Amino acid sequence: MTPSSHSPWFPLVMRMDEAACALVVGGGTVAANKAALLLATDARLTVLSPTLCPELTQHALNGRIHHVAKGATPELVAEHARHCRVVFAATDDRAINRMVAATACELNVPVCAVDDPEPSTFITPAIVRRGSVQVAISTSGAAPVLARRLREQIEALLPAGLDRLARFMQGAREMVGARHPTPDTRRRVWERFLDGKGAEQALAGEDDAARATLERLAGEDTGGGEVWIVGAGPGNPDLLTLGALRLMQNADSVLYDHLLPADILDRVRRDAERIFVGKQRNNHALPQPSINDELIRRAKAGERVLRLKGGDPFIFGRGGEEIEALMEAGVPFRVIPGISAANGCAAAAGIPLTHRDCAQSCLFLTGHARADGTLDLPWHTIAQRGQTVVIYMGLGGVESLCSRLVEHGLPPEWPAAMVEHGTRPDQRVITADLATLTAKVTEENFRSPALIIVGEVVKHRVISSNSPEA
Ligand code: SAH
Repeated sequence: MTPSSHSPWFPLVMRMDEAACALVVGGGTVAANKAALLLATDARLTVLSPTLCPELTQHALNGRIHHVAKGATPELVAEHARHCRVVFAATDDRAINRMVAATACELNVPVCAVDDPEPSTFITPAIVRRGSVQVAISTSGAAPVLARRLREQIEALLPAGLDRLARFMQGAREMVGARHPTPDTRRRVWERFLDGKGAEQALAGEDDAARATLERLAGEDTGGGEVWIVGAGPGNPDLLTLGALRLMQNADSVLYDHLLPADILDRVRRDAERIFVGKQRNNHALPQPSINDELIRRAKAGERVLRLKGGDPFIFGRGGEEIEALMEAGVPFRVIPGISAANGCAAAAGIPLTHRDCAQSCLFLTGHARADGTLDLPWHTIAQRGQTVVIYMGLGGVESLCSRLVEHGLPPEWPAAMVEHGTRPDQRVITADLATLTAKVTEENFRSPALIIVGEVVKHRVISSNSPEA
């Protein structure tokens, strides 16, 4: 399930200064709410309504609004809307609101009919405000209650001093800009400032200390590129680490492979260049040495390169080969671990990988056959009771894997499971045994990525309430 990136609603931030006029049609509490939004700007506000609620009456008395004490007619609305940047149709009469919307539309003036997106050319978002910093949340009119819930969550997230921080940064823009005329290095200075103690200082209002921090950062060399080898987990965005998310937001470019779903890639910085490097069985868009070369080339050109990998980079992820190449080339790198398919799939399928009653160890295995089709593995240590075996890349070789395990001493009725698209909304799980797994997998037409779990722990499977199957 990939979220659509398409919407007919486009968010923007509109200038509402003294030169701007706005019109609210209606005089009740709904109109008062819209008026309150506009009165938080510098726009001049006209309210068209025969009567006013106490709040609006007060504003009229204080001269904060211009009150036209008449009922709305197309002519009157047109006369006032003509000069306006925005119009709100906020009466309690849907037909009047629609008339206002139609009139404003005719004049090409943006109009919002409250609680009626259909005739509206804009809708208002839920807003979280910290002075000049504003977060607007929109569900494109689909679910206002959800937008409000998100607003509460974001409210809790944003520190109170955010406005101070924004103002401090505005005040220091010129200094940083003068020292770093190119946008890329300038962005890095600001990112380091925000990631370090400078941001804390500015949030706390310690402007002198913050400025000293920033000046030091602006004087440092920001030119060197770096490679970040980051595990993105088994596919569900909820399983990204905070470290992964932060680097995803800061990268200049991202090299990713086919395991990564769109809703994870969507979380990478929008401006980052995206390079698909494949990595599907028998379908390597870029062979490993070329991937290494590309990482090195980009880092040497000064980029912060994100190498985003499914699961954990060091578990069947060839992260080891990449860091060796980087070391050799003298390119600095960081590694951020990810939740590996074994952990993610086990949790989402409700199979405890070790259970004290039946598994004292857990083995991670690759089922990827060599070019000649053989699997050269120490079967006698693998086919053990009291142990769980997790097999990556085992879908294609499931039949031979199961028969090898039986040949080497496990009973045919030994439990075995396969998890397809683990942790994703379309996850499927088969539980069977070594004798029957292959037939079931073929019958259900399981596709990659899929993980095999062999061992008595499969019998302990329970479906938790956060399982995609629950
Ligand atoms: N580095 C990755 C593994 C890469 S090998 C990790 O730590 O998870 C690719 C194999 O991982 C696939 O063939 C499959 O066996 C397994 N895999 C990865 N994501 C999976 C998922 N969401 N569900 C089931 N198996 C998965």
